[in-house]
Amino acid sequence: MVAKLNFQSLQTCLVLIYMFTSSTMSITLPPDLKDKIQIDPDAIKAASTDYGHIVTQTPAGVLFPSSVEDLKTLIGFSFNSSVPYTIAAKGWGHSVHGEAMATNGVVVEMPSLVKNSNRIVIGGDKASGFYADVGGEQLWIDVLNATVQKGLTPVSWTDYLYLTVGGTLSNAGISGQTHLRGPQINNVYELDVVTGKGELVTCSKQANSELFYAVLGGLGQFGIITRARIVLEPANPRVKWFRLLYTDFDTFSEDQETLMSVNESPQFPNYLEGQLLMDPNSLDDYPPEDRPRIASLIKQYGILYVLETATYYDVGTKHSVNKKLHQLFKSLSPLANIYTRDVTYVEFLNRVHTDELILRQKGLWDVPHPWLNLFIPKSGIQAFNNGVFKNILLKQNFTTSIVLVYPMYRNKWDDNMSAVIPDEEIFYTAGFLDASGFDNWQVFDNKNKEILEFCDKAGIKVKKYLGFHDSKGEWINHFGSKWKTFQDKKNQFDPKKILSPGQKIFN
Ligand SMILES: Cc1cc2nc3c(=O)[nH]c(=O)nc-3n(C[C@H](O)[C@H](O)[C@H](O)COP(=O)(O)OP(=O)(O)OC[C@H]3O[C@@H](n4cnc5c(N)ncnc54)[C@H](O)[C@@H]3O)c2cc1C
Repeated sequence: MVAKLNFQSLQTCLVLIYMFTSSTMSITLPPDLKDKIQIDPDAIKAASTDYGHIVTQTPAGVLFPSSVEDLKTLIGFSFNSSVPYTIAAKGWGHSVHGEAMATNGVVVEMPSLVKNSNRIVIGGDKASGFYADVGGEQLWIDVLNATVQKGLTPVSWTDYLYLTVGGTLSNAGISGQTHLRGPQINNVYELDVVTGKGELVTCSKQANSELFYAVLGGLGQFGIITRARIVLEPANPRVKWFRLLYTDFDTFSEDQETLMSVNESPQFPNYLEGQLLMDPNSLDDYPPEDRPRIASLIKQYGILYVLETATYYDVGTKHSVNKKLHQLFKSLSPLANIYTRDVTYVEFLNRVHTDELILRQKGLWDVPHPWLNLFIPKSGIQAFNNGVFKNILLKQNFTTSIVLVYPMYRNKWDDNMSAVIPDEEIFYTAGFLDASGFDNWQVFDNKNKEILEFCDKAGIKVKKYLGFHDSKGEWINHFGSKWKTFQDKKNQFDPKKILSPGQKIFN
């Protein structure tokens, strides 16, 4: 890749601009940003890959912005150019199929904005509600640390917190709190967005609502989120955390739905998830004394189902929470309670980071991640268990996969937003979170295709979450009745199809 000088136009009095030439085409970039756009091999390499390690796309340059103005300049210049270049905001690149990449375009390293002060500001009051004004580049772990210091917290999370606010709000942001509080996109008051025309717009449900709804779950298609006003509430300092073991899927899912339907004030349990246990050799997360028994149950049943739930409390509510949980657990039918922990709130929310450190140490973090995340309507979940968990995973020996499965309510989502979910009041998410070698990720990818084919044949109307689709037709199918609105808003806010080309929806 070569950087060379060029003259833009006589109208602008022969202003010097930079032109970046890649193997296939040249792009002209704004001269004002020449010191902030890098083309050195390290910057290009880092922007050409992601957590998936499956897709590689080479940009022409990488912008390290120091202000929101830089984003306006970059996008505005492309929008006004006769040959626009594509632009992808990159949070922490935790996508798995190149969603934050831009072939021959410009990748924006959003974390570069972190250097500015005041990018997490807490405001509001008890009467009108608290909030945090947070830069789109901020990590949720930093939002957590800043808010708990003031006794406050966001209400909806992802399992892993080293993800950016802009990155998760472009998808949905789901975790064990979603059944109660909705996804992260439902817990935002206001956004600042630099649109595909290079205009900075403040939007909310009340002002510029079309942009607000489009951007939330909008896969980066309508603008770059530079600030999000996140809903906060008082934080409880401690968490009671349980895992209940099941050998039978129907009992497991019935109990999940029982927990989800608890209708009390204050609402609880605060967190509800579930996962499969299929590998007797991967029980490091469980107390050593329980491991032999769990391992022998896995050998006997093939799959065990682990319901995971947690409730937040403080000194004042400790006893009443204990009593309520005791009562509630009486209505459940697990084989055993295999895990009871009492931890701090931060320790609980940041639990996946502990696994990350172990995997990094073993060299198993920066490897391919052929993931598949689905939303499955409740009417199909039993067939999904038989056809996918038992007949594909177990029979074909995909037993080392991390597989999450838990339910949520459709009415906790806002259908005006771009995120797409199944058309039933209760639906489940299933996450197949495989890590593989560089030479065999296709084996897992083929297994994922087989899962989708099974659902198609069985008539289970699943929706992909964090999904990539191979063709525009598949995207149209994915959006279903929302496609026309999604397309209209793209024409309105990013008419030159500049933003987030790596999603491969319009590019
Ligand atoms: C270990 C791990 C655990 C995860 N756990 C969960 C989970 O529990 N729940 C969940 O919902 N997701 C989870 N995810 C998925 C995660 O939410 C998405 O991959 C998310 O996109 C990652 O954020 P990022 O900041 O790395 O975004 P990137 O991968 O950098 O970007 C993702 C997309 O968003 C766009 N984008 C990035 N920043 C902005 C911005 N400021 N404005 C507009 N568009 C932007 C990009 O262009 C791209 O299209 C997990 C991912 C990993 C790797």
